[in-house]
Amino acid sequence: MADEKSFLSSFESLAVASEWNPAEPPHPINVPIFSSSTFQLSSVAHAEELAGGKGGWLYSRWINPTTDAAAQALNSLEGGHGTLLFSSGMAAISTALFAVLKSGDHVVAPKMVYSGTLSLLQNILTRFGVECTFVDGSDISKYREAVKPNTKVLYCETPCNPTMTLTDLVEFGKLGKSLGIITMVDSTFASPFNQKPIKQGIDVIIHSCTKYLGGHSDITAGSLTLSSQQLFYECYELQKFFGGCLSPFDAFLLHRGMKTLHVRMERHNQNALEIAKFLEVHPKDYLSHPHHDIAKKQMTGFSGMPVNLKLISLQCPLGGVQSLIEVASAMTHPDKYISAAEKLEAGLKESLITIQRRFRECGRPKKRSGTSVGKV
Ligand SMILES: *Cc1c(COP(=O)(O)O)cnc(C)c1O
Repeated sequence: MADEKSFLSSFESLAVASEWNPAEPPHPINVPIFSSSTFQLSSVAHAEELAGGKGGWLYSRWINPTTDAAAQALNSLEGGHGTLLFSSGMAAISTALFAVLKSGDHVVAPKMVYSGTLSLLQNILTRFGVECTFVDGSDISKYREAVKPNTKVLYCETPCNPTMTLTDLVEFGKLGKSLGIITMVDSTFASPFNQKPIKQGIDVIIHSCTKYLGGHSDITAGSLTLSSQQLFYECYELQKFFGGCLSPFDAFLLHRGMKTLHVRMERHNQNALEIAKFLEVHPKDYLSHPHHDIAKKQMTGFSGMPVNLKLISLQCPLGGVQSLIEVASAMTHPDKYISAAEKLEAGLKESLITIQRRFRECGRPKKRSGTSVGKV
């Protein structure tokens, strides 16, 4: 595990830092919501400069001060070259893929990914002449074997939703670099508190900010953190024309959510560990996940997914503060998007149940008659 103490202190300070320093008072400590679609310009030449790519406020689909402040905060947590915010995780993923792919290109992706991503790769991109090979996401040699001369993207999701399969990010990054292929990692389930893929040489880091980053189940948002100016530019250009920008209201809530990310993630990590210990048949083996060694290598915490069932609601989006329980094979990965046989092959059993425990003082979850986690 990385040195958690020094990491925490810098993470906390980055999470609450604000780049908002207007020259004139008032000096609010939070970046206000700029609900303006357009901004006053000093001249036609000024408008031409901004339209030509020079930084500045022109039109909120391109850039908005509230959204930009939230993007900068996330970028400093991830340590990237630049970050773009989107109206959903799927808007971020589709923009990244469409930004770098063209007809005739090939993608290697894991058999088990978020169902929306799977549909995009399997059913939508194929309509535009992009082919995808699906491999075991935990086996880098399978990625290597699947690479072809026209492979343009290596895609992974770690930990994967919902099977918690992990990919070794160092090896994944190295493979991409050695072959000159763009690497993309959906890091939603870890959050930047537990994992920073930019350190392992990954090119594009994706989040559904709807989950841990927003953290209160009250926004839909997504992000791309890019490792280079070129990738940032390519994704930014496509975002402008696909139009999946984040509204300033949701950007404000996302920014606010990020300020408590470290506190919430510490508790999620702790709660999940307690539940994992409780559910394990042999208490000493509670860290028996097949990819535990990879998690130890690249994550600073194991995140919050492994209760009193009376207090749990049946929900899909994880990452908020309430308890939830989800039957993944029916709810996030229905047969409409992935067949029962494909689910089994990718390790998603009908019996997989995802639990997230709501915030409360930590400690061993208590059994209650008929509703205990022990009976899940
Ligand atoms: C939820 C989720 C997405 C999609 O994000 P939206 O904000 O719902 O569009 C993508 N990847 C993972 C891992 C997710 O859990």
